[in-house]
Amino acid sequence: MTDALSFAERVVRWQRQQGRHQLPWQNPRTPYRVWISEIMLQQTQVQTVVSYFNAFMHRFPDVRQLAQASEDDVLSAWSGLGYYSRARNLHRCAQDVVQLWGGELPTRSEDLERLPGIGPSTAAAIAALCHGERISIMDGNVQRVLTRWLAHADDLILASSRKALQTQAQALLPTDAQSMQPYTQGLMDLGALVCKPKQPDCEACPLGSDCQARRLGKPLDYPVKTRKLTRRSESWWLLLMQTRQGQLGLVQRPAAGVWARLWSLPMFASESAAMATLPNACLPHLAWQPPLKHVLTHRDWWLNVGVVSLSQPLDMGGLVWLDPDQALQRALPQPIRACIQGWQARAKS
Ligand code: SF4
Repeated sequence: MTDALSFAERVVRWQRQQGRHQLPWQNPRTPYRVWISEIMLQQTQVQTVVSYFNAFMHRFPDVRQLAQASEDDVLSAWSGLGYYSRARNLHRCAQDVVQLWGGELPTRSEDLERLPGIGPSTAAAIAALCHGERISIMDGNVQRVLTRWLAHADDLILASSRKALQTQAQALLPTDAQSMQPYTQGLMDLGALVCKPKQPDCEACPLGSDCQARRLGKPLDYPVKTRKLTRRSESWWLLLMQTRQGQLGLVQRPAAGVWARLWSLPMFASESAAMATLPNACLPHLAWQPPLKHVLTHRDWWLNVGVVSLSQPLDMGGLVWLDPDQALQRALPQPIRACIQGWQARAKS
């Protein structure tokens, strides 16, 4: 009888029988692999993360090799996942782990939280999944399951509401350390597979018999988050310049802001500024491509790419000239990579 079991017992039993057991970071489940997967999963779907995770592990199999890599290498391995501050923090964190912790991630969540880029939920995930610490994680999937089961109607934008939820979550934890791994994984799996954002499958849910949101008939009302993002649109003009020898001009982005320290085609705030950098003789051959939309957290970028051939490399501050294959080895944001690859494919056809 499901009802005779506690919340935690039901989650653990369901995870063992129906949860996910084949994700690459579960086999083997080491603190390093859990850490990398948690950071990748923060803004990215599991299906996308799997291939990036495997390639990242191949390139940086342990924390020491990640710490010793150049930032450019780490950004290059991250290229396509977006939100590049995650990769920069990952790299800094690996260096701190080597310098301060002898190359082993600390085991307690309170120590993990002091490292760059490791927030409370990631720290809790590593400590609970790998060391059985009795602490509740609070990622988006888990927040959804808990707020629905509890009918927690306070706005999670407020720190006081998140704290109250955390307190309730702590009270639901298993009493024994051995159950923390399947319990934590179980809550994440329930959020991903059953208690989905728009289509919760309450019939199949092990928590359905006493779920308050289900009883009220309104699971979709939870979690409550009121703040709406105000989105802005910006346009940028980029130059894809190719020399007679087939080389492309790339620049490294500034150390702060979007795409910080990644490599890009030169970007300009206006069409006229882009054109002003080119010799007059080239202008009749400059071909603007249809704008590409790139979605960022708070804004949409419209990227206008102008393709132009030059008789010789331009002498522009910071510009480096590379063969297309070399250019694609650099840490490029995904839209720039796609743009260069598209241009390469058109040139070959
Ligand atoms: S019963 Fe429905 S709403 Fe409640 S936790 Fe399960 S899937 Fe989510």
